[in-house]
Amino acid sequence: MVEEHGPDQDAGKAEAVDALVIGAGPAGLMAAETLARAGRRVVIVEGKPSAGRKFLMAGKSGLNLTRAEPLEAFVAAYGSAAPWLRPMLEAFGPEDAIAWAEGLGQEVFTGSTGRVFPKVMKASPLLRAWLRRIGAEMRLGWRWTGWEEAAFAFDTGAGRRLLSPRVTVLALGGASWRRLGSDGAWAPLLAEKSVALAPFRPANMGFAVHWSSHMAPHFGQPLKAVRLIAGDRKVRGEAVISARGIEGGGVYAVSADIRDGAPLALDLLADREEGWVAARLAERPAKRTLSKHLAQALGLDPLKRALLQEFGRPLPEGPALAALLKALPVRHEGPRPMDEAISTAGGITREALDPSLMLNALPGVFAAGEMLDWEAPTGGYLITGCLATGLWAGRHAAMWNA
Ligand SMILES: Cc1cc2nc3c(=O)[nH]c(=O)nc-3n(C[C@H](O)[C@H](O)[C@H](O)COP(=O)(O)OP(=O)(O)OC[C@H]3O[C@@H](n4cnc5c(N)ncnc54)[C@H](O)[C@@H]3O)c2cc1C
Repeated sequence: MVEEHGPDQDAGKAEAVDALVIGAGPAGLMAAETLARAGRRVVIVEGKPSAGRKFLMAGKSGLNLTRAEPLEAFVAAYGSAAPWLRPMLEAFGPEDAIAWAEGLGQEVFTGSTGRVFPKVMKASPLLRAWLRRIGAEMRLGWRWTGWEEAAFAFDTGAGRRLLSPRVTVLALGGASWRRLGSDGAWAPLLAEKSVALAPFRPANMGFAVHWSSHMAPHFGQPLKAVRLIAGDRKVRGEAVISARGIEGGGVYAVSADIRDGAPLALDLLADREEGWVAARLAERPAKRTLSKHLAQALGLDPLKRALLQEFGRPLPEGPALAALLKALPVRHEGPRPMDEAISTAGGITREALDPSLMLNALPGVFAAGEMLDWEAPTGGYLITGCLATGLWAGRHAAMWNA
């Protein structure tokens, strides 16, 4: 049961609590439930007036909870963080994420690409059921601002409050969508305590493009049956063109490579071999315009033809044009601002943590979720990673100072 208040407190005196969890996103709620199930008395503190705001936002796009694929492939999606996160994902992987959602009364379905969603395609029923089940006291509108001597200090509607926990789990999220609570303002608080942090960087984000005025009629349109190419990585997916630039699932999938320096290109005819494209181009009757031929013989829609002109002019002829259609370089101005990103890389480094996810510099303080320095593509890896690290931190925290 979740309670939404805190007791009156003498000014300046720290209230003793058993287990403290700061941050009521998926990582913090999982840590809190795990601690409560282990018999700890848990207080969850959340800066916003309600829990799980980013989780609810994820629900607006259907809430991709996890991905139904073999564990090896699943773990590999975490890139350089895979060896670090492996034990946590073995303890809580895709099947566990599905069982967890079903345990909260949510039937799930698996889409054609293996992505798993609740059938209702939203997060609110799941979150409501979870908050009812967790078994912790919740203090909303309590914003953690650092330490006062050994006590955790909070700004609350009723003034400054201090808590003195026996064990703590921090689950404050990354540094995007600050209006939903995850503003990364915790980073300097931990840096002051000598916790090693990697700088925040956008992850799963779009890229800014300075379009010519010819592109305006196409804003808002989806780019279908394309392949996004970022150096060696080629991903079939969708993208959306907007006044701001280019974004969407296919772009997010290659966004880390592009952020780290790989050039972005588009294969506009993902279903066709380059030889087929070259042969069709060679069949153009002398009287037919190129634009008409691209539409009729190659099936290029107006958006794809506009992109070819935007990035490919002056257009080459023959096989060179076929090659361009299969790998059209996209000129962009770099990632869109970090606050728009689906997630962020950076945060607490693995060197700052012991294998139980306890901060080496702060014994008794554990950390979980997106505030740790790992990143993964969209596709359910983010939420599963947050739940897995929340469970791991909660399990180990439950044994601390019990
Ligand atoms: C538009 C959008 C769509 C997404 N879709 C998906 C998806 O389909 N699948 C997927 O896997 N992932 C998705 N994500 C990502 C996913 O929502 C996040 O990775 C996940 O919510 C992170 O969980 P967390 O618990 O680590 O942090 P958060 O969910 O960010 O929670 C952190 C909590 O800490 C609180 N907090 C922060 N600072 C303080 C403070 N100083 N004091 C007190 N409280 C504080 C915040 O208010 C917040 O409630 C999406 C994200 C966005 C923005």
